[in-house]
Amino acid sequence: MTIYAGSCHCGAVNIQLTSDKKPEEMRIGRCDCGFCRRHGARTMGDPAGSVEFRAAPSDLSRYRFALGITDYLLCARCGTYVGAIMPDQGGTIGVVAAPAAESSG
Ligand SMILES: [Zn+2]
Repeated sequence: MTIYAGSCHCGAVNIQLTSDKKPEEMRIGRCDCGFCRRHGARTMGDPAGSVEFRAAPSDLSRYRFALGITDYLLCARCGTYVGAIMPDQGGTIGVVAAPAAESSG
């Protein structure tokens, strides 16, 4: 397993994506919902891996719409879209916003 670390722009939200896959093997998703279109969002994840978002509760903003089951996670300080989580069969599915996982600075 490889741990890929990322963060929002200001560093208040840290992301850890754990996966057996190499970065080039990860499928980059482009969701067509209104939120993702407005953000130009691309997401990545690995169903066999795991993802963790670490932040002080006040530094993480959650946004819900439509069905209201997915939490879109944004840094409350710098506004970066860092990923989304949704319940699934007793667990939770998470995806990471690709730019937040890929970039630093
Ligand atoms: Zn931030």
